[in-house]
Amino acid sequence: MHDEQIIIIGAGPCGLAAAIDLQAAGHNPLLIEKRNIVYSISQYPTYMQFFSSPQNLEIGGVPFTTAGEKPSRLEALNYYRTVALRSGVRIRAYETVTAVRPVPGGGFEVQSVTGHGETLTRRASAVIVATGYFDHPNELGIPGEQLEKVSHFFREAHPYTGTEVAIIGGNNSAIDAAIELERAGARVTIVYRGETYSPSIKPWVRPAFESLVNNGRVAIRFSSRVVEITSRDVLIEGPDGSERLPNDFVLALTGFHPDREFLTSIGVTIEPEGYPTFDDETMETNVPGIFLAGVVASRHKANEIFIESGRFHGRKIADYLKKALQAGVD
Ligand code: FAD
Ligand code: NAP
Repeated sequence: MHDEQIIIIGAGPCGLAAAIDLQAAGHNPLLIEKRNIVYSISQYPTYMQFFSSPQNLEIGGVPFTTAGEKPSRLEALNYYRTVALRSGVRIRAYETVTAVRPVPGGGFEVQSVTGHGETLTRRASAVIVATGYFDHPNELGIPGEQLEKVSHFFREAHPYTGTEVAIIGGNNSAIDAAIELERAGARVTIVYRGETYSPSIKPWVRPAFESLVNNGRVAIRFSSRVVEITSRDVLIEGPDGSERLPNDFVLALTGFHPDREFLTSIGVTIEPEGYPTFDDETMETNVPGIFLAGVVASRHKANEIFIESGRFHGRKIADYLKKALQAGVD
């Protein structure tokens, strides 16, 4: 069994930032990533442009410069993998952490399975969970949600040309997808539970989107919910009653939540609202020695924590560990 000081689970931008900041503070963390570096970003919509400026996405103090005002997905992939490689942080890719167990006398045993199916066990004095939320879309729990034509992820518009697409949700993923789909010749209806446009829509995107709606090129049903999906249509309930819309594809872009099952399995309690218990100042959970970094720590609103803010969680943890060490020495 290998002895590690700190194990970080997840090499997204926030896990990477934490690793680099802890390294700068004199630690030698090990990052374990179940797929590739910044896996979630590699799964984002192919032609997505970040809403953040490149400066606000920087980690490890490495400058991020882009051709345009906002980075593309491809530029972000290039930036994060370059920073990861140059930082010298130890990363084990294609290895999934399956369990974290406390060890009598202190520390944890971290179990993982490699891409070759080998099970490994390491010891760590601290564990940072930076597993994001992208693997866990918010499900609707309605009949038909499991049909093949339903997806919680949008990659690109081309496959939808000439089809009837219903989008569920009214925030940035939904609006970006609707704009791209309309351009590719899909007939789009957004079904949104809010009474009017969501205040979370990026202000520079909203005018273009509203103009598509006002010109009848994208339909939107406010105060409405899809209550059933069949192979041919969707059943919507709204202020004027029920309506069946012909439909080929449903994109349920309803946001994400942290992996509650994994967090519970390692002893982290989940608050009644569905989010993990942790201290905002130190990022430590209710389990001493287990910390959170990045959007896994998001609470009610997905927009509270993102790369812009989650990239600093590692610094909070490094400060806390330093103080704890000094207190131990004194
Ligand atoms: P992630 O990037 O999701 O990284 C988590 C990592 O953990 C993944 O690589 C995953 O494979 C790995 N993992 C999970 N479970 C395990 C396990 N058991 N073992 C090992 N590894 C595991 N934020 C901004 O600040 N600006 C933006 O412009 C922006 N644009 C966004 C656009 C989209 C479409 C979406 C969905 C989000 C966007 N966000 C943006 C929000 C957020 O900042 C991102 O979701 C970001 O990826 C979060 O980083 P993270 O490191 O916390 O999590
Ligand atoms: P989100 O912000 O969580 O929005 C989810 C949407 O689905 C909301 O409109 C929500 O309604 C609705 N919804 C949730 N559960 C529902 C349910 N059970 N039934 C019906 N509707 C439901 O998710 P997102 O749009 O995917 O964004 C996630 C993160 O990625 C955010 O941080 C966002 O800013 C970021 N993002 C960035 C970009 C970009 O940079 N270009 C693009 C996309 C996303 P309410 O509004 O009523 O809550």
